[in-house]
Amino acid sequence: MKTFAYFDSSHEFPEEIIIAAQMNPYKILGKNDFSTELADQYIPQFMCANARSFLNQALEESSKWEGIAIAHGCDATNRQFDIWEQHVQTPFLYYIHNPLRTDRIAQRFFIREIKAMINALESKYRIKITLDQLEKAIQVSNNIKILLQSLSQLRIIKDISNSEYFNVVKYCVQNPKEEIISYLNSILSDWKTRNSFPINKIPIFLTGSDITHALWYELLEKVNLRVVRDDLTIGERYFATLIPTDKDPISNIAKYYLNIPRSSTKHPTNPRINYILKACKSEKIHGVVSQIIKYCETFAYDVPFLKSQLEVIHIPVIHVEREFTENIDQQISTRLEAFVELLEQNR
Ligand code: SF4
Repeated sequence: MKTFAYFDSSHEFPEEIIIAAQMNPYKILGKNDFSTELADQYIPQFMCANARSFLNQALEESSKWEGIAIAHGCDATNRQFDIWEQHVQTPFLYYIHNPLRTDRIAQRFFIREIKAMINALESKYRIKITLDQLEKAIQVSNNIKILLQSLSQLRIIKDISNSEYFNVVKYCVQNPKEEIISYLNSILSDWKTRNSFPINKIPIFLTGSDITHALWYELLEKVNLRVVRDDLTIGERYFATLIPTDKDPISNIAKYYLNIPRSSTKHPTNPRINYILKACKSEKIHGVVSQIIKYCETFAYDVPFLKSQLEVIHIPVIHVEREFTENIDQQISTRLEAFVELLEQNR
């Protein structure tokens, strides 16, 4: 099956349209080596390195993909489409406007956007994307999300390392959907037999800029912080909500993308904070780690509000700004160790 790549700064791109078009949606997340050199020719280094790494991968690997779509995510990356249009070699480059609000007008607007993208794909690839195919794609997507929900719940009671969880979700956004169900079922059988949650690990909620490499999860693991809940794109934002099936598939898809756990890129902030507060109240969360990648101002703006709301419910929080690097940041490691000491005193 052919691969169609997409770039969004959160979980904005409706990948079900690509599944219905009989292609494999592939989320561009940058290469494992953290490279940005090629992209740095076109985007200044004071812009988010995540986005630069996505462009870098596209500059190197776009020939493997049938086409690329970019969805409106954060304002930092919004008009990077123009740079991609100039420099990335691809037979098809498409921009889909994903609304920042969630009201009825936004939903109507997004339905129109999805229909326009379907028309563009049909015309480019000489295919027909039927409502029946869209319904089947929703079913596939929901089946994957249900399995991910089951896996995610095991994090709280079983010994599942941070990077194992991250790698499973990452696999789901980059591999052919028909392979994923059996893959997830085998992981589920394995995780169910794991030992209980280790007593030396401290359960935390992880939030902030999207994490695209397992390294950061490994750093948390090293200092004994175990991520049992999160609201990240390679995480709960991808699977916490199912796509509704009560209306026509395009309306259902539009509704879904406007009702997933919110990112800081969306307005207003309250639903995002409420998701975190609810998780902290309902699970045995001992603390919150809020992190942003350097220059991700979108998430940085939310931090004072997040901290004040967590104070109200007496959940300790640490906020750190990280570099985009394959090296462990020792200063952050030391700060996390100090945070762990604080959490251990509260235990
Ligand atoms: S990390 Fe922040 S600045 Fe970078 S793409 Fe994501 S939301 Fe935008």
